[in-house]
Amino acid sequence: MRILVISDIHANYSALEAVMASVVTVDAVWCLGDLVGYGPFPNECIERIASLPNLTCLLGNHDAAVVDSRDIDRFNDEASHVIYWTKREITRENQDYLSKLPEIVTTDWVTLAHGSPRSPTWEYLIDQMTAMVNFAFFETQLALVGHSHLPLAFTVTPSGDSVTRAILQPGVVQKIETRCIFNPGSVGQPRDHDPRASYGILDPEEQTWEIHRVAYDIKATQKAIEKAGLPEKLCKRLAEGW
Ligand code: ZN
Repeated sequence: MRILVISDIHANYSALEAVMASVVTVDAVWCLGDLVGYGPFPNECIERIASLPNLTCLLGNHDAAVVDSRDIDRFNDEASHVIYWTKREITRENQDYLSKLPEIVTTDWVTLAHGSPRSPTWEYLIDQMTAMVNFAFFETQLALVGHSHLPLAFTVTPSGDSVTRAILQPGVVQKIETRCIFNPGSVGQPRDHDPRASYGILDPEEQTWEIHRVAYDIKATQKAIEKAGLPEKLCKRLAEGW
């Protein structure tokens, strides 16, 4: 069994299509939220994701803000600009779709959240200390999170008293032996200075996790950002991967 794990698509349809084209066969797709925000194709991305078979999709902080702008002052200027733009562009059906997404999903082996098990929509899981605390907030062996846009792995050491942190490189197969928290990186706005779209493949039978990267048509997304009148900085960061 192979599960495609994606996150932080951020309305970047070219990147999403490149990921879907590069994945040969998977049995399920787990999307960890932030389908919209930053990018120019919110409706296209929501409809593509919603059409996938065997999909589990979670709510991200940008998705939540498009549905309900109560928390909009937690975003920086560019992000909130695009959230207001998205609220105007998005269809009623797609807004309804976002409004029904769960904040956290737990199976017998894996806990899924956008931010962290402790604070599913908002908390950034970037450093070892925050990861260490979060291991107490889920009971499964594995947790999968997005939100930081970094392909991070936090692993409890075999003795159980500390946590290691690594940014995973593509093509390196991780054997899952202890409790772990993995982030597949971002499809639509990578932030590790590699502009290629990032995703993960989880194999529950083999107990493996692997990051993949795929180049996409960045110029097509940049042109659409310009055409929509969205902040120019968003074009630059896509090209540079931050
Ligand atoms: Zn995000």
